[in-house]
Amino acid sequence: MAIKFWQDTSGILTPYFTHWLNKTDFPELWQGIKFIFTFHSPPKKGEAEGTVRAAFARRIGKHEKDLYGYDFEISVCEDIWKKLTEDARSQLCYHELLHCRAELDPAGNPVLDDENRAKVWCDDHDIKLTTFTKEIEKFGLTPADYEVYLLLHQNHDRIRTQVKGEVALGAEDGTKPYAFD
Ligand SMILES: [Zn+2]
Repeated sequence: MAIKFWQDTSGILTPYFTHWLNKTDFPELWQGIKFIFTFHSPPKKGEAEGTVRAAFARRIGKHEKDLYGYDFEISVCEDIWKKLTEDARSQLCYHELLHCRAELDPAGNPVLDDENRAKVWCDDHDIKLTTFTKEIEKFGLTPADYEVYLLLHQNHDRIRTQVKGEVALGAEDGTKPYAFD
């Protein structure tokens, strides 16, 4: 079935995003960027077998920027959104915003294009493992992945709570979690 998209004109998503945009954690990341928040349905498939994506983020190309005036789109799957807890919704919006980054000059000001619009990037996840499951079982982690291990280890209590406690972060059959694309 084809995926349908629509703008969040009813303002369901916007408060969750503005909550994070107005916090001062990373004000420089999102300076001068015009966001459009959209819903879509049904969910897109995740990269891992059997998973679905709760949301995704994308940089808007120049042609669409010219036509519609937005720099960056965050699209949330409505079917999944309805099933998420408030905490999971908040985390999902935070996650998607972290994909978005304004390009800054050395003085920390947004770099503008030739039409005075913020230059924006869509960043990939900053945590990646470069070891195979079978390799870890035989040799352990590679040194390159050790920092990821330390980070996970230091946040062990949180990870355990989320994985164990948040049914709402899991897909319907409870076997695969939703992917935050
Ligand atoms: Zn992501």
